[in-house]
Amino acid sequence: MTPYAGRFKGRCVVITGGASGLGLASARRISAEGGRVLIWDVDAGRIDSAKAQIGAGTFGIVVDVTNPTAVETAAKTSEQHLGQIDALICSAGIAGRNAAVIDYPIDEWKRIFDINVHGLFYANRYVAALMKKRGYGRIVNLASIAGKEGNPTASAYSASKAAVIGFTKALGKELAKTGVTANVIAPATVETPILKQVAQAHIDFMLSKIPMGRFGKVDEIVAMITWLASEECSFATGAVFDASGGRATY
Ligand code: NAD
Repeated sequence: MTPYAGRFKGRCVVITGGASGLGLASARRISAEGGRVLIWDVDAGRIDSAKAQIGAGTFGIVVDVTNPTAVETAAKTSEQHLGQIDALICSAGIAGRNAAVIDYPIDEWKRIFDINVHGLFYANRYVAALMKKRGYGRIVNLASIAGKEGNPTASAYSASKAAVIGFTKALGKELAKTGVTANVIAPATVETPILKQVAQAHIDFMLSKIPMGRFGKVDEIVAMITWLASEECSFATGAVFDASGGRATY
């Protein structure tokens, strides 16, 4: 898709999980539209390769979002590096294992919640505080259509994404009069490296549920992410945006 020239000129954006998949593609697009990007990711090697792809002016911080102290430090360091944080895109997440609820490994349930829910909360908490002080900000959280529909054998992932939806609705209302918006995206399946974690039978199941009969394209999700992260998104907050080829029941 063609970038909008200058849409992010003068804007500084932090992207968790920005070294891969939807986060990386958003970073590329924002940079192409004149913004400065700072990637937070747990994978140092991926950060290096992402920085090389995106180009000059891109920063990276190795941070595990499950560590609240590290996230608080990353938020402060990011503001020092960039001078300001205009938008936060929370893309860090895992799919985790597929298993029936009655067999679901307790440690895996906790790991999924730690990254997808607690990690996202820490990033929102510390960056929203900085944005509120400045009176401007755009927060975009990545949930999933699984959080609305509930995917069998992916109960932990589905529940974690439902939590992200509820959390973002609450945050949007809390910040409604501050100049900071917070919205959440619920994509159906998109072909990114996350699918390596998912059983083929489950991938086939997810495809069968999409009325358009195909997976989403990375660019189609990035178009929504970047609009929600831009200045143009000024009257939508606490809202859920589906990008699911028609897959949603409410
Ligand atoms: P991806 O695996 O390509 O990228 C996820 C990134 O998060 C990776 O770079 C990984 O290193 C990072 N990460 C994982 N754990 C982390 C941690 N503890 N701290 C910091 N970084 C960490 O995945 P993606 O497809 O780009 O997914 C991005 C987001 O979109 C996820 O939240 C995912 O649940 C959601 N989503 C993806 C799809 C899809 O089909 N791809 C569909 C719906 C929602």
